[in-house]
Amino acid sequence: MSMNNISNSRHNTRKRSLERKLGYETLLLDGATGTELERRGVDISLPLWSARAILHAPEVLMQIHLDYLLAGADIITANTFRTHRHNLVSSGMDGQATSITHKAVAIAQKSVRFSNNPSAFVAGSIAPLGDSYTPSNMLSASTLEEEHCLMSNILASSGVDLILVETMNTIIEAEIATRAAISTGCPTFISLVCDRDGSLLSGESLCDAAASLVPLKPHAILLNCTSAIDVLSALQKLRKYTSLPIGAYANVGYLNKDKHWIQTKAVEPDYYAKCALSWNKAGATLIGGCCGTQPDHIATLRDMFPW
Ligand SMILES: [Zn+2]
Repeated sequence: MSMNNISNSRHNTRKRSLERKLGYETLLLDGATGTELERRGVDISLPLWSARAILHAPEVLMQIHLDYLLAGADIITANTFRTHRHNLVSSGMDGQATSITHKAVAIAQKSVRFSNNPSAFVAGSIAPLGDSYTPSNMLSASTLEEEHCLMSNILASSGVDLILVETMNTIIEAEIATRAAISTGCPTFISLVCDRDGSLLSGESLCDAAASLVPLKPHAILLNCTSAIDVLSALQKLRKYTSLPIGAYANVGYLNKDKHWIQTKAVEPDYYAKCALSWNKAGATLIGGCCGTQPDHIATLRDMFPW
């Protein structure tokens, strides 16, 4: 068997293992990467934001992955949130989208190999092309399609176990990115940012989002970067709109109108885990943490959902 065939067959085995577990076991995602890099003193200034760590602090990035794996994550997400070609243009690095994305995935894969859990899965992140929280900065559908197809193909060629289309705040971009990811043959999760009423940041309803996304047959639909305290009611709505596996990874604070980060009770891992238990009771079988969460949050979740 050639090296290529060996790697393809290993990849297929991992894909089948993920598909066997999805919806039947509660799988834990990791916690935040961007805010965790910052907390550990890594420069994540714009325009590169968290992508800067791939080039300038790979050892810190790897340690974050390792800490989440040690805490008990079943799925870690490679730091590809800001490695679209489009996002690298302003740094003059758009010619390096493939190499930077592959490097981020390689760091995550290496972390898994060196961890206590070598069967953990590596997700490749696909984020919105524009600002995550400003849906009005929408790009044209053709630009979205071109960029998300390119990113999906780069992630698929990097050998990720799944693609996590995340932090989507408009139906059109969620749909385009999900289609692009699914077309690679990689298992695909799609995750939306909602408010407590179940509206996307664009104002579109979760019901309409589900009506567009469910027919594409992603492997799971999640909600992320919504406050841990608020996500339950949106999750309960989502459960009504689909029988696909669902999940949530919430944040532990929010930006007020003056752009100051306000911490909530869910900053405490125990309180966060209590929230997560209510999501699990509402049907969520994929649970992790978004902005502000740390390895301690995942470790406390692991205690609540033992292997
Ligand atoms: Zn977040």
